[in-house]
Amino acid sequence: MMERLADKRLVIASHNPGKVREIEELLVPFGIRVVSASALGLPEPEETGNSFIANAQLKALAAASASRLPALADDSGLVVLALNGDPGIYSARWAGPDKDFALAMDKVQAGLSRLPGSVSREAYFVCALALAFPHGEVLVFEGRVDGELVWPPRGNLGFGYDPMFLPDGESETFGEMDPARKHAMSHRARAFAQLVERLGDDALA
Ligand code: IMP
Repeated sequence: MMERLADKRLVIASHNPGKVREIEELLVPFGIRVVSASALGLPEPEETGNSFIANAQLKALAAASASRLPALADDSGLVVLALNGDPGIYSARWAGPDKDFALAMDKVQAGLSRLPGSVSREAYFVCALALAFPHGEVLVFEGRVDGELVWPPRGNLGFGYDPMFLPDGESETFGEMDPARKHAMSHRARAFAQLVERLGDDALA
């Protein structure tokens, strides 16, 4: 694995500069140079998959085949058990064109309050990562953090659905929690830990 990536560039199949920087910081210790899909002028494919993994795979494969370089993509969201997995892969879309997550959290709460009886408030965040090679091979990794949804939302740190997500065993929501603490336990951290473990796995080299 390291031989396939070391001294090579890895395309981050994201047009979000914050995300690219975060991923770059994780990969620098491996001697991997990172370039973003937008820096290469690659188009953003439509996320037509019906799972987090399918969407991460299609973004990584599109970037790898267009650039002829290995490419890494991620896809993440909030899964609410009582809402049959919603908002799931539509987590960003529930916030509408203005990316209004107060509205998105209201929709989640409204969905739960419409259900009869005692309703489970269990939910999890999930992050799928796909590492694609130009010849078509793809490796996938998935990280998840379980918790419950509180109402009203608490805290203004983090982003997205963080203020209504209370991770299991914690007293603070992701919106109240010190960001370093969130980053150490998050779905994204768990998916990346698996990727980094694989990068260090000489059996794949
Ligand atoms: P994407 O993977 O960048 O498309 O993000 C999907 C959406 O999932 C984001 O816009 C957020 O709404 C939600 N999401 C993903 N990870 C988190 C998180 O750590 N906290 C809060 N919301 C998240």
